This record gives sequence, structure tokens and C-alpha cells, in this order.
Amino acid sequence: MDPKVFSRENRTDQSKDSDYILVGGGLQSGLMALAIAHHRPEADVILIEQNSMLAGNHTWSFHATDLVADCAPWADLLVESRWPGYHVRIGNRTRSISIPYCTCSSSHFNAVLTQRASDSRLRILTDTKVEAIDSDGVLLGDGHRLSAPVVIDNRGATPFDANQYSGGFQKFWGFELKLNRDWPHTNPIVMDDQIDQQDGFRFIYSLPMETRRVLVEDTRFSNNPSIDRDDCWEKVRAYVESQGCHDWQVIREEHGVLPMPMAGSMPGTGLPGLAGGYRGGWFHAATGYSFPLALQVAHTVATYPGSELSDQLHKLSIEHAWRAHFARFLNRLLFELVKPQTRYQIFRRFYRVLDQAAIGRFYGHRFTRWDAFRIIVGFPPMGLRPMNFLRSFSKRSTYQIPTQPSTQSLKVPG
Ligand SMILES: Cc1cc2nc3c(=O)[nH]c(=O)nc-3n(C[C@H](O)[C@H](O)[C@H](O)COP(=O)(O)OP(=O)(O)OC[C@H]3O[C@@H](n4cnc5c(N)ncnc54)[C@H](O)[C@@H]3O)c2cc1C
Repeated sequence: MDPKVFSRENRTDQSKDSDYILVGGGLQSGLMALAIAHHRPEADVILIEQNSMLAGNHTWSFHATDLVADCAPWADLLVESRWPGYHVRIGNRTRSISIPYCTCSSSHFNAVLTQRASDSRLRILTDTKVEAIDSDGVLLGDGHRLSAPVVIDNRGATPFDANQYSGGFQKFWGFELKLNRDWPHTNPIVMDDQIDQQDGFRFIYSLPMETRRVLVEDTRFSNNPSIDRDDCWEKVRAYVESQGCHDWQVIREEHGVLPMPMAGSMPGTGLPGLAGGYRGGWFHAATGYSFPLALQVAHTVATYPGSELSDQLHKLSIEHAWRAHFARFLNRLLFELVKPQTRYQIFRRFYRVLDQAAIGRFYGHRFTRWDAFRIIVGFPPMGLRPMNFLRSFSKRSTYQIPTQPSTQSLKVPG
């Protein structure tokens, strides 16, 4: 039987192929599929991915506190590695944070979803491109049409338009290394800025996946999106050697350029119809991360009837709107108010003034108004560019939804 012809026999609405169609097989669709399988095990879900594997090539990191009680029963499966805490080293200060830190790789994510497809009513179509989406169905590249009462666009970021974008970038190139001796740190170091500073604020991020397997990334908060693999490798290599490891094998690489907007529409408001993940603007503008918001969107989708989803996602968007504005304001401070060489002061202050719970809330897009106040009050001490900062408010950005988090599609304004 053609895999795209689905049995309608046991369906409540026999005129449809499924209860849900999730377009795109990345982070957001995967989380929705797990949440629906947990909360509505009787529901049929079709998840459609254009590539042959789900989830691309990522290592998603998150705080264990992002897995709030509502999501833990179905999202815990995704925790592939977990550490009791992590360190940050900025401007000669080291701080240890004891919030458990977790990661999930694309391959683990793919394995969890494939397993779920074998024991639930989830159907995964890979190598299948969706050409068009409307409120009750999708048109596939081969001309098939599939229908469902709930269709959600989770196709990830849209292509970058340099002329319409105003903001900075978080860009990184990571190398996963197999070492011939033990890595000296048992916990992640999510920022170590004891390296040459250039191209904005630059630091090394390291995740010890096993005693002799480590992911090391060169990361920068920069005003331009270009990234050079060899330059990043040089920094990573020198750092790894400085940690006493001189022999290794590179077993995987990943890279990204995440937009850090200063303006633009709020989560869930950029598109007609239902959209999640980056496509729907559900990401943290000041970190570029989307895992925490994607969990909340997935929970909402799985716990309300389809007819209420639009209203419920709108409510969630309103709940997060002031935080989204504040995160964009922080990006103005970071990329316009301080000079690139003094950008590190903002990070140093952040880790100095916030207590651990507030740090967890900030990354999880759950911060309070008091947390926001603490982050900016007293800031900043030196190296200011007040005129740039003021001008940034008059930059009208038509930036609607986030840009492609990938180097290939990025162009620097001419
Ligand atoms: C290398 C990297 C590391 C990151 N690390 C983190 C992290 O640690 N923590 C964090 O919170 N965030 C991280 N992010 C940011 C963000 O969370 C990810 O980009 C996340 O994957 C976005 O999820 P998404 O579901 O919106 O989009 P994606 O995960 O990009 O998924 C979109 C999917 O849709 C598919 N698709 C697109 N068009 C079609 C079509 N027409 N038909 C069918 N399928 C289609 C794509 O192939 C893709 O698989 C990272 C980003 C990158 C690039």
C-alpha cells in the first residue's frame, strides 16, 4: 500500500487522513508528536520531513528546569546526557551553576521518535517535501494531498533577507572529538572566554559527552553573520591542547548562525494559520534557543482540542510578549550600546547579579519582571555607544519571523 494512503476506518472524522499533520521533522514537530502521543494516544499524527532523517544535525542543550512538570512525563525521554551543573568563566571569574544541564543529539532525537512511531499512532514520512499548506491539509511534492483538522507549520526558519534584518548573531562551529586521554572536566563549561577576543564576544563551549568524547565549540556574539570553519578549528584545537589533550579524532561537526533580533513580531504572530518552532517565532531572542518555548507550544497543542488551538497559542504568545520585547531590548544593549570589545561585560554582569533560579528562568523564557530589572539596573559601566543605541530604536524592522540559522543562506548587507 502506498504509505501516503492512510486507513480512515477507525477515524472520528472519516473524511480526513489524520487528526494532526505536522509539517517539518525537526525539534518542534518531534516535541509535538511526543506530547500528543502522551496526552491523546487515540489521535493519529502524520509528521512530514523533506530529508531522509529527522532533526538535522544538532546538539540541543537545555536546563533540566525547562522540563517543567507538565512536559517531563513525555519529554524526559529526550535527555541523552545530563550533568549536575556547569561552569562559566568570564573575564577571569568562574561561576559554578548547579542547575542540572541536559543535551539531546539529533541521532538520539531521531531514535526516540522512530521508537514512538512503532508503538503509537504516529506516522513519519521522510523524503517527503510539502509544497503547500492550508488550514485543512497539505500538498506534497508528488501531488498527493493529505488532510487533517489540525495542520501545523513547523518548517523551521525562513530564508534570511539581509535588507530586512536588524540585529546581531550568535554563531558557532562545534567539533566533537574522540580523545586518547580523559577530558579534564566532568561538567560542561558553557562559556570560557580565556581565548583571543575578536569578532565581538568570543568564547569556548565544551560538553564532555563521555570521559574521552567531548563537543568543543567556538562561539561568538557578533555583528556579522560570516563564520570561517578553519578559524574556528584553530581556536578549538588550541583550547583542547591547553587542556592537556594532544591526540584526537574529529568524529562530527555542527555549526549555526542564530539571529538575535532587536525588533520584529512576537512569538506566534508572524504567520496565518498554526505555526510552531522557529517558523512561528517561538524562540528566545536573546539566546537564539528554542527548546524551552517549543516544549510549551507542544504541551499546548497536545492538551487543547484543535478548535481551541489558535486561541490558546495566542494566549501563550501574549504571556510571553513582554519577555520577547525585553529580550530584543537586551540585544540592542549587546549589539548597539556597548562596543564589541566590551560586550563581555554584559555577560559578566548577568552571571554576577542573577541567582541560579533566575538564570534558569531567563534561559527558559520564564523570567520575572524583577529578574529583568536585576539584569539591567546598574548597567553598564564603560565603553558605551549611546548614539548607536538610540538609533537602534528608529530602525524599522519588517523582520517577521526568524531567519535561517545556517551559514549557507546568510548574506551580509551590501
Ligand atoms: C547547530 C544548531 C544548534 C542549536 N542548538 C540549540 C540548543 O542547544 N538549544 C536550543 O534551544 N536551540 C538550539 N538551536 C536553535 C533551535 O533550537 C534549533 O534551530 C531548532 O532545531 C529549531 O527547531 P524547529 O523545529 O523550529 O526547526 P528545525 O529543527 O530546523 O526543523 C525544521 C524541519 O523542517 C523541515 N522542512 C523544511 N521545509 C520543509 C518542507 N517544505 N517539507 C518538509 N519538511 C520541511 C526541515 O528539513 C527541518 O528538518 C540550535 C540551532 C542550530 C543550527
